[in-house]
Amino acid sequence: MTVSGLVATEGSAGVPVAVPVTVARGDGIGPEIMEATLRVLEAAGARLAVEEIQIGESVYARGHSAGIEPQAWESLRRTRVFLKAPITTPQGGGFKSLNVTIRKSLGLFANVRPCVTYAPFVPTRHPEMDVVIVRENEEDLYAGIEHRQTDEVTQCLKLISRPGCERIVRYAFDYARRHGRSKVTCLTKDNIMKLTDGLFHRVFDEVAADYPDITAEHWIVDIGAARLADTPEDFDVIVTPNLYGDVLSDVAAQIAGSVGLAGSANIGEHAAMFEAIHGSAPPLAGRDVANPSGLLLGAVMMLVHIGQPEVAERVHNAWLATLEAGVVTPDVAGPGTSPVGTRAFADAIIDRLGQRPVTLTPVAYPAGQQQSTVPTAAARPAQRKTMDGVDVFLDHRDRDPDALAAALVRAAEGAALRLQMITNRGVKVWPDGLPETFCTDHWRARFQSSRSGATDRRDVVDLLDRLDRAGLDFVKTEGLYRFDGEPGYSLGQGQ
Ligand code: NAD
Repeated sequence: MTVSGLVATEGSAGVPVAVPVTVARGDGIGPEIMEATLRVLEAAGARLAVEEIQIGESVYARGHSAGIEPQAWESLRRTRVFLKAPITTPQGGGFKSLNVTIRKSLGLFANVRPCVTYAPFVPTRHPEMDVVIVRENEEDLYAGIEHRQTDEVTQCLKLISRPGCERIVRYAFDYARRHGRSKVTCLTKDNIMKLTDGLFHRVFDEVAADYPDITAEHWIVDIGAARLADTPEDFDVIVTPNLYGDVLSDVAAQIAGSVGLAGSANIGEHAAMFEAIHGSAPPLAGRDVANPSGLLLGAVMMLVHIGQPEVAERVHNAWLATLEAGVVTPDVAGPGTSPVGTRAFADAIIDRLGQRPVTLTPVAYPAGQQQSTVPTAAARPAQRKTMDGVDVFLDHRDRDPDALAAALVRAAEGAALRLQMITNRGVKVWPDGLPETFCTDHWRARFQSSRSGATDRRDVVDLLDRLDRAGLDFVKTEGLYRFDGEPGYSLGQGQ
């Protein structure tokens, strides 16, 4: 780890104190765009004390499977601010995604990606687009809890928590308010995933009530995504669970003009990471052609985050003035424009520090108004939890649902729980199944007691013991719980 200061850290009276920031130059085009970014920040008067760490290819090659060395965490924990250039992720098994590791380890729950068009200076089909995607960054299918349970079937757990929803949704509304935006759109698939995405939507509606000054709307993610791709100018701030946000933020950045233009902030309670959304573009490395704008705009978000909004404003407006002057890198050069290299582009921004754009709208980051806040989820009393029964998942190769039902009923003879239903991949196949339904070797058998809430954990253990003795191969169970009388499980008829 090397340490270099852009500005002295000593803070005698009246001298602004430099803020410690961890910086990684990354792989591919990373070192070039980081060099350009740091030069612009320094010229703009950013008060930063830079600590450099190594990440990426060379670190993977030294045997660190997540691409980061143990001692680098000390810097990240100390500075809590990370400006990160892209890295090249090695192909093949055994390597972990550095981004996912950092996000989860540091609890960076919000990924914020502004996707803005700069027409007519950057060609785009959507000249009015100005969308900010706020993506939940820790939960959903990205928990990485996957299992192969039978010969034919694998599963991935989708985990959505109420505190996780509250934090990201409140963050999105706070963001909208702080940045003078008027609408927050929530995208989920709660017509199908009524409990998980349904929770996200419900929390969205609850939190929206605290922000009467901001319009709140919800769209099912499929039609919402289609509208975003078609008429992005109809959107303002979008808040969405992890997977949809991952996909949609790339779509939004691409249709805004170029993935080379968008920066991204990953915000947590204890730390924050700022980067470009693009990768390390290995074919462009070392050629002085890469666009440093994505990383520079990530750095602008960092400056706001660390309380230097006046520097952020100076950099951002000089960058807009540079685009307006027709100075661009090759990736965004339109017909008839002669592009410049990475270094010359940074020099052009430095030359324009103090200028504001004339055609494009200048940015304003008023002091104290825009710094990120980290909302905390409201404490709630635990609800009364009772149990109606259990779903038992079975590995069973014989494809005859009636025969399986007969075997289960025989095995459960005398147990407190009775077989109610069998489904295969969520489709009911017993009782009254259709012979046309395709069945795999993975079955869900629902057992319930005759009275709601009357099931005891020992009833489940007794049932499993009986199934085991009958040679039935259960691969997992899910309790059928009620919370204050409300069922906490889907009805399981399939959709
Ligand atoms: P990429 O983003 O590197 O490149 C996609 C396309 O965009 C390429 O045509 C590239 O030339 C162009 N491009 C990207 N950034 C540019 C810039 N600043 N200026 C001009 N053109 C630019 O995506 P990829 O090719 O799929 O991935 C390359 C490597 O980057 C892979 O190893 C991937 O795993 C990694 N990656 C890292 C991150 C990260 O560190 N955050 C993110 C995405 C991909």
